[in-house]
Amino acid sequence: MTPDERLEALREHFVKLSTVHRELESQLDAARGRQADLTDDVDQLERENEMLKTSSLYIATAEEVTEDGVIVKQHGNNQEVLTEVAPSIRDNLDAGDRVAINDSFSVKQILEAETDARAQAMEVTGSPEVTYEDIGGLEEQIREVREAVEEPLINADQFREVGIEPPSGVLLHGPPGTGKTMLAKAVANETDAAFIKMAGSELVRKFIGEGSRLVRDLFELASEREPAVIFIDEIDAIAAKRTESKTSGDAEVQRTMMQLLSEMDGFDERGEIRIIAATNRFDMLDRAILRPGRFDRLIEVPKPDYEGRVQIFKIHTRNMNLSDDVDFEILADEAGEVSGADVKAITTEAGMFAIRDDRTEVQMDDFRNAWEKIEAEEDEDEDVSKTFA
Ligand code: ATP
Repeated sequence: MTPDERLEALREHFVKLSTVHRELESQLDAARGRQADLTDDVDQLERENEMLKTSSLYIATAEEVTEDGVIVKQHGNNQEVLTEVAPSIRDNLDAGDRVAINDSFSVKQILEAETDARAQAMEVTGSPEVTYEDIGGLEEQIREVREAVEEPLINADQFREVGIEPPSGVLLHGPPGTGKTMLAKAVANETDAAFIKMAGSELVRKFIGEGSRLVRDLFELASEREPAVIFIDEIDAIAAKRTESKTSGDAEVQRTMMQLLSEMDGFDERGEIRIIAATNRFDMLDRAILRPGRFDRLIEVPKPDYEGRVQIFKIHTRNMNLSDDVDFEILADEAGEVSGADVKAITTEAGMFAIRDDRTEVQMDDFRNAWEKIEAEEDEDEDVSKTFA
């Protein structure tokens, strides 16, 4: 081979090597990319593994912070234990705080300001939009609520001068869907008061161990928002007649009710807060809550009579495009003993029938068909509940 030929061969070899080098480099890049992806995956799996290894914590309330330690009560089973806490946690711990505890009841963490239990259990409205004109057939009840709730809020001085105490609490009782919540909202609206609603059933179902504390919060919130109307729906859930059973659940409900009564007893200093409760189960109530100074004004809210039904039909069709053949008197008669909520449901469903038929005007037959449909659905529901009873 001549030197020139050798040089040529070396050059070709060099070119080949350069190509192989480039290929290998790009393969190396790809491998590095893949390695980075896999490292991420490993990190992620390690974190998940770590999370799975750390056991969940239980929720409890610190009842007392003492020299000997902290007494915590676990939610759910209400077990009370005396436990130790790390000094760093102890410094920030107050009785009443919600805490997270581990299997051996050591306090691991103080939970943020109530992790908003308040917000979950209460509905707060600056001033609700319902007015007395939106309520049909309850003139007498409206008059009584105004006298018991509105007057004391608006003319507090007059009550003081005359030297009588306004009713402490008003209890609205009657079948479901008859306008009890509406009455409470309307009176709050009329007096420009904040409306704070809490359901008794929520109090006992979701927050075992916290019922009495939530009642305290409820009144505290009301005094921050004065003037305010507190509305406790389904009061029977926390104020049912005492039963013989002594389960911890019952004791808890009792404590919630005692807290409510003691908040109401301290009412004189409360200023512009009125309290309204409602129940569908008047027969179940513990009479203790009806004593003077407690829920001492009872107002029955019955299902509407014929005149009432006519009015409620008118109220709920105010904004509807009705055909001339719609006659509320006939409808009120045909509907029979229905609640205000039923009438509302009939009007909405009638509108749906018109829409399904591609009309913009609602006719008498739509109302009749709507009522038939709702009645059939109610019968079905009843059959189902009977089957499961
Ligand atoms: P529950 O006991 O089930 O809580 P309630 O008595 O508080 O029921 P509301 O929540 O006030 O009943 O009523 C439900 C709906 O029914 C209202 O939003 C309203 O549309 C309608 N309604 C009930 N009663 C009347 C009434 N008297 N006038 C006009 N609408 C009514």
